[in-house]
Amino acid sequence: MSLLEIKNLKKSFGDNVVLKDISLNVDKGEVLSIIGPSGSGKSTLLRCITDLEQEDSGIINFDGAFGLVFQDFNLFPHHSVIKNITNAPLRVQKRDRTEVFNHARHLLKKMGLEDKEDAYPCELSGGQQQRVSIARALAMNPDILFFDEPTSALDPELTGEILAVIKQLAADNMTMVIVTHEMNFARKVSDSIIFMENGVIVEEGSPEEVFTSNNKRMQEFLGKFN
Ligand code: ADP
Ligand code: MG
Repeated sequence: MSLLEIKNLKKSFGDNVVLKDISLNVDKGEVLSIIGPSGSGKSTLLRCITDLEQEDSGIINFDGAFGLVFQDFNLFPHHSVIKNITNAPLRVQKRDRTEVFNHARHLLKKMGLEDKEDAYPCELSGGQQQRVSIARALAMNPDILFFDEPTSALDPELTGEILAVIKQLAADNMTMVIVTHEMNFARKVSDSIIFMENGVIVEEGSPEEVFTSNNKRMQEFLGKFN
């Protein structure tokens, strides 16, 4: 049984058909990367799965908690790091205060940010903010973690620290769906890859299958990264 099943998902904005009959499965412990050109519908797909957007038709079977990590961190600027992390577990999940704070501190330590709990987002580097954002997502005890271009707003030297965190989560068997333009990373960390273009899954399979595909569009897309 897959943890997440999507069948025949369709979504339009006005007459712009953005997702055309998307079907996919994610198994427990799987790392799925979604690649493809800008405008192909990757963010819309994640937004439909995570209820930020309403699909027009299709089935999304997912019975669990999810965490979402955005390109631009989306931290609350007026809240300290620890408050950013503990807010939803306390208010939404109504969990025990001591347990939530202990968990948050454990996650901060894991992210190498144990000395930053009282800092405000503006006092942190982009890489640190993104690690807080990952800690915040993990604080919900998600069954799946979704990433939408988690390193696109970061300088190359900060990108590496975020990719290392995601790699560690993969080693810990976290189920993840990652939209990314980091092709080498996707190839190394993923169990499976989907190449999307114009709202359609053009290619899917293991990293080896997808990256060595003879599909013309796939080759053209990968060529842009070489
Ligand atoms: P990607 O993440 O692959 O770059 P998006 O899912 O962001 O692609 O966008 C796919 C298409 O959907 C684009 O043409 C974009 O302009 C359109 N789109 C996305 N969100 C909205 C929205 N809220 N309203 C109207 N059009 C949107
Ligand atoms: Mg996007």
